[in-house]
Amino acid sequence: MSPSASIALTVVVVGLLAAGWFFGIVLWTTGAALVIVFVAYARGTRDRLAFLRWAQRPLRTPQDSLGRFQEAAKSLHDSLNLERTRNRRWLNLARRFRDTSDLIPDAWIVLDQEMNIEAVNRAATTLLGLKQSDVGRPISALVRHPEINRLLMNEDDLNIVEFASPTDDQTKLELRLIRISEDQNILLARDVTELNRLLSMRQDFIANVSHELRSPLTVLIGYIESIYGEDLDPDTLKEIVQRLDAPAQRMKSLVDDLLTLTRLEASPDPEWEDLSRIDCATLIQAISQEASSLKRDNHSISLDLERNLCVMGVGDELHSVFMNLFTNAIRYSPEGGPIDVRWYRLNENARFEITDSGLGIAPEHISRITERFYRVDPSNFRVKGGTGLGLAIVKHVLRRHQSALKVESKPGGGSTFFFDLPRFE
Ligand code: ADP
Repeated sequence: MSPSASIALTVVVVGLLAAGWFFGIVLWTTGAALVIVFVAYARGTRDRLAFLRWAQRPLRTPQDSLGRFQEAAKSLHDSLNLERTRNRRWLNLARRFRDTSDLIPDAWIVLDQEMNIEAVNRAATTLLGLKQSDVGRPISALVRHPEINRLLMNEDDLNIVEFASPTDDQTKLELRLIRISEDQNILLARDVTELNRLLSMRQDFIANVSHELRSPLTVLIGYIESIYGEDLDPDTLKEIVQRLDAPAQRMKSLVDDLLTLTRLEASPDPEWEDLSRIDCATLIQAISQEASSLKRDNHSISLDLERNLCVMGVGDELHSVFMNLFTNAIRYSPEGGPIDVRWYRLNENARFEITDSGLGIAPEHISRITERFYRVDPSNFRVKGGTGLGLAIVKHVLRRHQSALKVESKPGGGSTFFFDLPRFE
């Protein structure tokens, strides 16, 4: 009850008692004063009880029945609502941040001053084996590796290290420590296995190309030095110049194949409008003649080609596929050996098949022969020639035509190379 209401109540009660005494009706006026006091206090108690009931669930809108507590309840209710909206917004933001960070393939770990874990994302589990329940524990006790200790100790101002993932030793991780403030650090880990593989492939490739070019170049330089300043008769000179032809041609083939392969790797798959209808029977027949005249060979090539069996493709790319498979069949089978070529309908597809009776290939080499510069017998290529890039080109072209090269072979028993392309009537 407010102070002014208490004063008013006191005045009324005292007035009633005085009037009772004055008129000799004390009993009646005392009774009336008691009733007034009771009514005044009962109203305050009812409001208080209503307020207490509302206060148990203060998010309900306060009703008029709260009486004199109405104003207080309303402002309490408004500030609670504001706080609730704010909390919801923060919660949503935190949830969105967590969901997004779980989608990131790199791992991040928030660390405090003592390098104890404060937060981790999902990739930290896959890459480093850390779990949400590890929050609060020291990272060095969970990821045990001398490199991470060096990183955490900031040895030699080191802020990047690389080591095998504790969850899978085939996965190479790169870890980077970022010092955010005095008491907060972030440790980032990313999978660099693929990157390392590509880097080492590039190094191998450069080493292979240099090696392949060096041999014919050495022969060329040798001949050039031998004739330099010599007074040679025209016949000898002609003979030496003729000998220069083979290594020069070899270098040209290598550079041509390298350019083809680079172009294939760099360009996107052909769109429908880049394709043309190709009559493969005619193309294969022409290539068969071209290949045997180039190699001046006397293999007996038998062609079994279904006419009018066409496919959609890039003409010069398919030309190089057939050409490479023909030259390999000739190169890796004995003089005069039979080579059977088939082009035929197979369900929805057309199949090209070339079978030779040559060296054959052991199973462990089959999956690798389409790698660049992979040779089953590296010493053989001096006799047989070849750039070591032919089947890599075949693989790429077929992949661009949604097909794949398949091989059936056994050492000494010849080989069959085949692939399917969708028919186009
Ligand atoms: P190369 O220019 O050396 O022939 P390829 O990429 O065409 O390069 O072939 C890779 C390797 O696959 C060859 O060096 C050879 O060892 C093997 N190879 C390819 N075709 C045949 C075949 N028809 N018979 C036996 N071995 C083959």
